[in-house]
Amino acid sequence: MGHMAEPNGTLADSFGRPVTYLRVSVTDRCGFRCIYCMTQDADFLPKAKVLTVEEIDRLASAFIRLGTRKLRLTGGEPLVRPGIMALVRALGRHLTSGALDELTLTTNGAMLFKHAAGLADAGVRRLNVSLDTLDPHKFRAITRWGKLAKVLEGVRAAADAGLRIKINAVALKGVNDDEIHDMVAWCGGHGFDLTFIELMPFGGLADEGRFLPLQQVRSELETRWTLEDTDHCTGGPAHYARVRETGCRIGFITPLTHGFCESCNRVRLTCTGRLHLCLGREDGADLRTPLRLSDDDGPLIDALRAAIRRKPGGHDFAIGRSSAVPITRSMSATGG
Ligand code: SAM
Ligand code: SF4
Repeated sequence: MGHMAEPNGTLADSFGRPVTYLRVSVTDRCGFRCIYCMTQDADFLPKAKVLTVEEIDRLASAFIRLGTRKLRLTGGEPLVRPGIMALVRALGRHLTSGALDELTLTTNGAMLFKHAAGLADAGVRRLNVSLDTLDPHKFRAITRWGKLAKVLEGVRAAADAGLRIKINAVALKGVNDDEIHDMVAWCGGHGFDLTFIELMPFGGLADEGRFLPLQQVRSELETRWTLEDTDHCTGGPAHYARVRETGCRIGFITPLTHGFCESCNRVRLTCTGRLHLCLGREDGADLRTPLRLSDDDGPLIDALRAAIRRKPGGHDFAIGRSSAVPITRSMSATGG
């Protein structure tokens, strides 16, 4: 009681932007140690701080009740979280009821060979798979110990299960810049979309010497492919073009150099129950305490509404924004 829906039924922040997209990091752990994401000896959170699978379900379901239509599970690596498939199946009930439009994951693909069919059965239709290179040696160097063949086996299993696949590749100068045409051709050949991501300065991990502006990637691609701009919009920091020769889409995510805040419709929940209202800012709201306070969702929903009202107008790490702060969280903590 007392938790009135917003006039239009959805959660909206104080700028009137509806929050219809929730990304949930279900774990901070991962089987890889990508050089731009984690140190080799990364510390992980003690279990007591991490939400249980049941708590994640409760939290996500509260968001869905308040109008969230799209849910993405990420990490760390979501598919290494014990109980992940039970969680995906449980969240699938919101697809069946029509309360949720889409349930999707961002994964490194290493465990997909095992879980692809189960994900499809639970109602997942699309996956983002992170893959920066098609060269097994480079793949090992980037991920520190990942096996490319396993990931490719997983991607194949996902495609066979009928899942639509988008490949995410971080553009890395001197690492995969010589492969971008091959990546476009490979994705085109398999019917996968491909998104390039500009390296972000998280956690002091990213080597600035590896920064490759996507403008440069795009110019290089245009020497061989015909890119037709589309107005496809995800509400996120990506621009999309269609490759005429393959029919597949290419996305360019340039969070550092372009403002995209005005259309931002998303918030992120960490595996400890912290709600981050904006990728580029340190502030957030603790939802674990109200969640654990009572079996009734009242305190949680109050905290959630209060937090959303505080969603900032824009992020602080864009070059040229005056109040720039160094970002010390890594992507594995907040979930890409
Ligand atoms: N483990 C899963 C995966 O790799 O897809 C999900 C979590 S991962 C943190 C989400 C995305 O963030 C991946 O596509 C990864 O490449 C990207 N990422 C991590 N650190 C990054 C950085 N410093 N700059 C740009 N992208 C980064
Ligand atoms: Fe793991 Fe994904 Fe981070 Fe790589 S980017 S270390 S796969 S969480």
